[in-house]
Amino acid sequence: TATVGVLALQGDVREHARALETEGARAVPVRRVSELDAVDALVIPGGESTTIDKLLRAFDLYEPVRDRLRAGMPAYGSCAGMILLADRVLGGIEGQQTLGGIDITVRRNAFGRQVDSFETDLSIDGIDDGPLHAVFIRAPWVEEVGPAATVVGRVEGGPAAGRIVAVRQGPLLVTSFHPEVTGDTRVHRLFVQIVRDSQG
Ligand code: GLN
Repeated sequence: TATVGVLALQGDVREHARALETEGARAVPVRRVSELDAVDALVIPGGESTTIDKLLRAFDLYEPVRDRLRAGMPAYGSCAGMILLADRVLGGIEGQQTLGGIDITVRRNAFGRQVDSFETDLSIDGIDDGPLHAVFIRAPWVEEVGPAATVVGRVEGGPAAGRIVAVRQGPLLVTSFHPEVTGDTRVHRLFVQIVRDSQG
């Protein structure tokens, strides 16, 4: 069984854990290095990327998480988690840093105040059985994709049509939206499959 940690500093920890367990993984909260050491993979939930960044440092987790990512640990980041896994961020606060790992540039709060939060159906490469209901909450979008990363999902209609909102790079997966709030666990299924594949 794959043991998947959920970074438990801020955000929808319980919802991610439930979705992971629905998909057959063992889910454990991660707040300290010893807990990080015991997991095969990590989910970074949404929340506020600047706050999660500060908490990672306060809990002495910033470098350990970054080192695990560099060593190939699979990770899934939703919303603020996407920002933290991106190599580059626009619209961040002065000096905002990310853990990095995915060769993308994200723009924070990209959809603008008029559409602060919205929901739409879209499809993701690698996810079958019809469109996914995507919930965006002050979400980032992906503004640039480097050669190492692959776009797997875009907004399909409305004013933001075409915007990139899901990307994969090896064992790393990020989405601008929050799949943990819909009860549809197919994004977590994809991630658990990525974790299993990485275990060989
Ligand atoms: N706007 C938040 C940030 O910049 C992300 C919002 C979210 O995770 N729902 O970190």
